[in-house]
Amino acid sequence: MAKILQDTTKSGKQRPWRERKIENVKYADYLEMLHYRKARRVKECGEVLRFIADDEGRLKLAQTWFCKSRLCPLCNWRRAMKQSNQLMEILQVAVGREPKGRFIFLTLTEENASGTELKSRLREMTRAFNRLIKYKKVAKNLLGFVRSTEITVSANETYHQHMHVLLFVKSSYFASSANYLSQAEWT
Ligand SMILES: [Zn+2]
Repeated sequence: MAKILQDTTKSGKQRPWRERKIENVKYADYLEMLHYRKARRVKECGEVLRFIADDEGRLKLAQTWFCKSRLCPLCNWRRAMKQSNQLMEILQVAVGREPKGRFIFLTLTEENASGTELKSRLREMTRAFNRLIKYKKVAKNLLGFVRSTEITVSANETYHQHMHVLLFVKSSYFASSANYLSQAEWT
């Protein structure tokens, strides 16, 4: 009798292969209805997974094929996992180099954009961000940053573009008002 795959994390949590694959098939069906040629490719995403068990019986994904379609739920889930692992590595190196550095979270947002404006507004926002980190008071304390842009769709069918930024600053940032930026100043 076939055994159902159990892929669990170190903390014992079940990895959502089944849920993501169901969403992936739904996405592929939509593509098919709209006569997209990539529909079949998307449907084959992660169809065969080959795991290898280590000495302790823990499974490690050894071989598979992903479609890499930008909206594929399966691929986006894998991508997010990979990015979060990479981020952890980067942060560890950063802390190793600057043990006294501190992290702060900065969320930047602006007025919603319409579909036709979105592309140019995003470009503008990135430009504005690059100017922001060059401000003297920001630059003098900044050791590095990680930025990710997110776009959500609002109920009135406009787009809400925003940035999540993890700033790595010198500890002196918190030492005096000559260094520290209040929320009003950031704004
Ligand atoms: Zn995929």
